[in-house]
Amino acid sequence: MFILILGAPGSGKGTQGKILAERLGLPKITTGDLIRSAMQDGTPLGLEVKKYYDEGKLVPDSVILGMIKDELDRPDAKDGAILDGFPRTAAQAELVDRTLAQRQQRLNHILLLDVTEDELVRRMRARARVEGRSDDTPEAISNRLQIYQRDTAPLIAHYAQRGIIKRVPGIGTVDAIAGEIKRVIGR
Ligand code: AMP
Repeated sequence: MFILILGAPGSGKGTQGKILAERLGLPKITTGDLIRSAMQDGTPLGLEVKKYYDEGKLVPDSVILGMIKDELDRPDAKDGAILDGFPRTAAQAELVDRTLAQRQQRLNHILLLDVTEDELVRRMRARARVEGRSDDTPEAISNRLQIYQRDTAPLIAHYAQRGIIKRVPGIGTVDAIAGEIKRVIGR
């Protein structure tokens, strides 16, 4: 089973994705974590993407598409995975759809975490004080929210046609939201 967790930055995708992956025994694929570890390790890819990341801009598809392909081809993701942080653009969605279709698979559920913009900003500012992420500056936060609306939110309409989008209110305790996710996917 392949489940995509979709939502604006700060909506809780990482937290809920981790809980869901552990509960269902599926690997979680997180492009943001892969990018952060490449930057930390100072790999050529990490150096190439740092300027986009720090400004809160999307890393170009020319870099991300190869990463997504490699991750979906991982042996442990053969029968399913939780996708966190991608697809984020139409080209990424096409790649995911095509790769799964070639394997007679598909995205089974898309969980859309719904959180108001005021709350997103509040959470990202709070996280900046704790984690010190280089893209939690006020300018990068504002870019990330705008880019989500411009490039990623249109994917909702793309997938809505297939009837696989489930909206989950992303406000409340972590446990309550996890419980609601369990209810909507029925397992
Ligand atoms: P996230 O941790 O998902 O909020 O991602 C943090 C940053 O990593 C984003 O602002 C982008 O710079 C980059 N990033 C993560 N996933 C993607 C993706 N699928 N496509 C492009 N850039 C990404």
